[in-house]
Amino acid sequence: MKKYAAYIRVSTIRQGEKGTSLLEQKFAIEGYAKREGLSIGAWFEEKETAAKIGRTVFMSMLKQIQRGGFDGLVLHKIDRGARNLKDWAELSQLSDTGVDVRVAGDSVDLNSRGGRLSADIQAVVAADYIRNLREEVKKGQRGRLKQGLYPWKPPIGYLSAGSGNPATICPVVGPLVREAFETYANGHLSIKELRHHMAKRGLDTGSGKPFAINRMHELLCRSFYYGLINVKSEAYIGAHEPLISKRLFDAAQDVMRGRLKRTTFIRKQYAFQKLLRCTQCDIVLYAETQKGHIYYRCHSEGCRGVCIRESIVVEALRNEIQMLGLSDAAITQFSIMFTATLASAVDSVSERQKILILQRERGKDAVVRLTDAYLDQAIDRVTFGERKQRLLDEQLKLQSELAEIASSAAYIEFKGREFLELLKALENIRKVGFSADQRRYVQKTISNFGITGKSVEITWKKSLSLMKERGVLFACGAARDRYRTLEGNDNQEGMHASLDMMKEIVNEVLFPTDEDNCDSSHSVQ
Ligand SMILES: [Zn+2]
Repeated sequence: MKKYAAYIRVSTIRQGEKGTSLLEQKFAIEGYAKREGLSIGAWFEEKETAAKIGRTVFMSMLKQIQRGGFDGLVLHKIDRGARNLKDWAELSQLSDTGVDVRVAGDSVDLNSRGGRLSADIQAVVAADYIRNLREEVKKGQRGRLKQGLYPWKPPIGYLSAGSGNPATICPVVGPLVREAFETYANGHLSIKELRHHMAKRGLDTGSGKPFAINRMHELLCRSFYYGLINVKSEAYIGAHEPLISKRLFDAAQDVMRGRLKRTTFIRKQYAFQKLLRCTQCDIVLYAETQKGHIYYRCHSEGCRGVCIRESIVVEALRNEIQMLGLSDAAITQFSIMFTATLASAVDSVSERQKILILQRERGKDAVVRLTDAYLDQAIDRVTFGERKQRLLDEQLKLQSELAEIASSAAYIEFKGREFLELLKALENIRKVGFSADQRRYVQKTISNFGITGKSVEITWKKSLSLMKERGVLFACGAARDRYRTLEGNDNQEGMHASLDMMKEIVNEVLFPTDEDNCDSSHSVQ
């Protein structure tokens, strides 16, 4: 008696695939084999997802049949066998070499020419159908990302709350992830030590073992934890509740970068280490401690003279911040205006999005109408081809603009938050003083920190130097009250000046014209 292989495939995309569970396919094949008097030698079951194309069971079954392990093959339906035309070609080839390929669910006779043709057509339709499904799935993922939803398994510390809902913080593991960030940001443990420490605290691989170094490193680099979803260099504002603040995340990143350097040559972290330059020699000053005081000294041959005490640098920095004219009230006012500007920017972005989506839908309709016209023989094949190509090109252009816009909205919000945080940090330095863990604020706000002899020269990056130029406007009292009382009287010019200046600053923050700005911008993940 001839021995047959039976092939079953289930897919995780269920839409439009009713009545094709694993068991149903099995019953159908068993019934068919019984009717036809075939003996099933082995069952090959494939479980696959829409996103993955690989079909390992299918391929290994083909090999076994080719080696002569079976005389024939029974499929449930053609669309179960041929996910793409390459697969179908393989099956056809089997049939050509004398393997008896049977289809239980479709009444086709692969041994006749007519039967083969009809099966070929079904295979083409099936392949197209699956291609379409896969695209739908990808589109769905993108749609969810735009809503701030993460369409995959959320990172450790979060629990999936079902599709359509943002991930929720796992009450057990979430706090441990936060603790890992906090512990690491303190800078006392290396990643290697951290993973042992956290394993003792309960954050482990699940079997009590500490994370691999790579895994811990990845965890500490995931922007998802502070609310930003990054997919293939595109950013989306997550709808999930952040586990940590951006500030804590940045602190961890700074430690990570600092560590790389520190292990090579820097032992003690000085507040201004490598931040100050000798303006005469254009090299960085080195820090040293003498009699309990910290000094920064130029080590070049010709210029031993430049040596400045840290306290003097701090004083200069605080004076310079003073000149920005920041105050709590001014920051609040700035925050209000900044948020408003951002909101309107985001609005205009989403306005543009709507237009683009509408255009895209129209384009799709146009393709359908064009195809109809071609099918009705209203236009010839060449015209059809040309017009369709043009329409598709337009669609592609729209698609890429949409993609850019989605990330620009996230970018605007991210930059806004970052800038306000910087202002608060600077104000804090002015009030409280400066320490090594605030270095990053200096890096992000100052484009030149030069020492000439005993004097300190600070050049702000453009957004802040704009503020310094007009700082006076902020300095004279609570800006908000001024705006309220000024309305309608002759002092409106002052208010307009402030508004314009703020707009100018917002623009500078979002689209920096500073040449040296790229070195300070964080690359997230
Ligand atoms: Zn020098």
